Amino acid sequence: MVQYRNRLDQHPHVSPDEAEKLADVSRTFAFRTNSYYDALINWDDPDDPLRRIVMPMAEELLDNLDPDHLHELDDHAIPGVQRKYESQINLLVTDTCAAICRYCFRKTQLNGDEEVTTASPEKVAAWLTEHPEVTSVVITGGEPLILSTPRIDAMLAAIRGVESVTDIRISAKIFAFNPHRILDDDTLVESLGRHSDDGNRIWIGHHFSHPREFTPEAVEAVRRVRNAGVGMLNNVPMVRGVNDDPVVLAEVMNRVYGEGMTNYYVYCLSAVRGNRSLTVPLSEAYRIFDAARSRLTCSARTGKLVIQAERANIGILGVDDGRIVFQVWHARDPSLEGRIFSFAENADARFLNEYAEFHHGTFELDVGH
Ligand code: SF4
Repeated sequence: MVQYRNRLDQHPHVSPDEAEKLADVSRTFAFRTNSYYDALINWDDPDDPLRRIVMPMAEELLDNLDPDHLHELDDHAIPGVQRKYESQINLLVTDTCAAICRYCFRKTQLNGDEEVTTASPEKVAAWLTEHPEVTSVVITGGEPLILSTPRIDAMLAAIRGVESVTDIRISAKIFAFNPHRILDDDTLVESLGRHSDDGNRIWIGHHFSHPREFTPEAVEAVRRVRNAGVGMLNNVPMVRGVNDDPVVLAEVMNRVYGEGMTNYYVYCLSAVRGNRSLTVPLSEAYRIFDAARSRLTCSARTGKLVIQAERANIGILGVDDGRIVFQVWHARDPSLEGRIFSFAENADARFLNEYAEFHHGTFELDVGH
């Protein structure tokens, strides 16, 4: 039985001294892990990459970044229905996860003190029916698959009942954090498969970030859901000390491909409070990504390196001749999509607004920071 752990001072691998030192961090940003994921950590190594994913670090209190850098809380049409793009919403169905990633861009929204989670399936379906221009729904949180199966099933049934919605994705890290949630509940696998029609699949957007997350249990959970007819893709956040190494990143992406998932995005972290020490400067991130890509089997090379802006997803295309080149992949204003722009390279810049040209007004695209 997997046990969830929410208190540092009761964690079996954290000494009382360490718990005391990190008490402010876990009061500021939610802490959660579980016995399954903790068993994957080498507790003798203070820099263990999986430890860096879930265990609080003193450095999280050292930056003054914005708690809601992407201004997501301003974009809720009704509670939990967040208008990301003209044709896509994010549906926030819970503020809980099977563990909490220290790099989460919603880390300040996971404390249970904001009204961010969704209304009833009926209200969501009614809102979608009134907005037929929305064709794509990303069910997210928090971790959607931590909800009870009847709640997940009711939400999927409600959204499936809206004819204009042709794309449903579930953003899920539970396959890496606690695959027993899948393995111990055949009714969840059945529900996901039942709502995933040929030609109109449900997609799972996984977050496998490190090769050691591909345990036999995680792989078995992926295979069961995939064999039920669900489509699968993977997004990797690039995190300092976790996968900022071409060999490690390529191993993740090759495992993803080998398990029948599509490599989708490699994310550079957003400028969210508490995250700076986990970020990688963008030009370095590009070089790591490029070196990893050359280690991938040909058809696994589908991933794109991106950074999120307030109103867009921005691709990082390359670094050349002292310039770093970007392209708008997806924007709330569709007329901006495809636009290419570049900044003079700055080896320390971790976010778009840390480039001098951004500040000097040559960044003309209205996509936010
Ligand atoms: S699983 Fe996703 S939502 Fe949950 S803490 Fe990690 S990044 Fe955030």
